[in-house]
Amino acid sequence: MKLDTRAMRHLTAEDWRVLTAVEMGSKNHEIVPTPLIEKIARLKGGASGVHKSISALAKAGLIARMKEAKYDGYRLSYGGLDYLALHTHAARKHVYSVGSRIGVGKESDIMVVADDKGTQKVLKIHRLGRISFRTVKTNRDYLKNRQSASWMYLSRLAAIKEFAFMQALREEGFPVPEPIAQSRHTIVMSLIDALPMRQISSVPDPASLYADLIGLILRLAKHGLIHGDFNEFNILIREDKDEQDSDNIILTPIIIDFPQMVSMDHQNAEMYFDRDVECIKRFFSRRFHFTSTTPGPFFKDAKKTVGTDGARRLDAAVEASGFTKKMAKDLEAAIREQQANSNDDADDSDDLEDSEEEIKSGSEDDDQEQVVIGDQIPLESEEGLQKLTINDGT
Ligand code: ADP
Ligand code: MG
Repeated sequence: MKLDTRAMRHLTAEDWRVLTAVEMGSKNHEIVPTPLIEKIARLKGGASGVHKSISALAKAGLIARMKEAKYDGYRLSYGGLDYLALHTHAARKHVYSVGSRIGVGKESDIMVVADDKGTQKVLKIHRLGRISFRTVKTNRDYLKNRQSASWMYLSRLAAIKEFAFMQALREEGFPVPEPIAQSRHTIVMSLIDALPMRQISSVPDPASLYADLIGLILRLAKHGLIHGDFNEFNILIREDKDEQDSDNIILTPIIIDFPQMVSMDHQNAEMYFDRDVECIKRFFSRRFHFTSTTPGPFFKDAKKTVGTDGARRLDAAVEASGFTKKMAKDLEAAIREQQANSNDDADDSDDLEDSEEEIKSGSEDDDQEQVVIGDQIPLESEEGLQKLTINDGT
């Protein structure tokens, strides 16, 4: 699903109010009955005003009409939720315009956005929860027929978790983007001027970059954390000029993508830890023909370092910030499900030829999908809408 901001500038203040009313109604209703939308929106124009807005929103694909056995009503679409989140970011002056899409995954859209001073940032829109229940029964039973399986809830959890981890990591001095804001299923962060390691064909000193990356895995472990998806797509490599020697380029890895992070105390921690280490080893061997002479690192050694030398437990810090065990469990089940589905149809495309092809041609999306550049988001926030805006504390 692609963010499409084209309809944004045509929405009236009433339309925004009605869209917000549908969102509020969705808290307790899977399908929000039309009279409830009217009641929450309380437009001056009365029911006819609401109906006009409902048609405009439905036409723009922001809400969808649903026919139920008992009543008719509407539900918010991903597009509708995207608009509400953007509206909040705009009202808080974090986003003024939306540029091109720089990344698209099965679980997210990544857009370049800018604030009113023209500073570029990244908007990550989480898209979780298109669940088809093809995996193990426990997952299926856990998620089925539960509010916890709704895409809106799960995508919001992913954003809340990612934002909380980015904040904790950043505070601790880890090389991660600066977390700027979170609303609903989206986060705004600083734009890193660097390519994913996947797109780097060679480096002058693979041993040193390898040591940096293993060092990051161990440093995370010391703070109680495992990234859980530490691969060449989620590590950006920044190239900085050496101040002393301008011919020399310093490579700095920056870590992104945190919704699947787990604690070193997780029941499958060893598996996640080993998988992260293995990912780096495999990539360095295939791409840079580098194999470390040192074995490991091993989970049991890393485990002994957790919390030592006064290292703050970031797994605990994030839980304390309000990301509860229940939220973690809901999200984990959904991510597992999503990964299982994507493994089903993934072709094993990580051999070198494929990757080199990709480097030459740029990423598949960049050329075709540059859309909605500089589209403006209306900034005048209505007093009424302000009051109506759901304050979910995020
Ligand atoms: P996903 O969950 O879909 O994998 P990621 O957070 O890994 O999403 O982002 C996908 C891609 O978008 C990354 O591989 C990277 O190319 C780009 N990207 C994400 N965040 C940033 C950022 N802050 N700065 C620059 N590029 C980014
Ligand atoms: Mg990623």
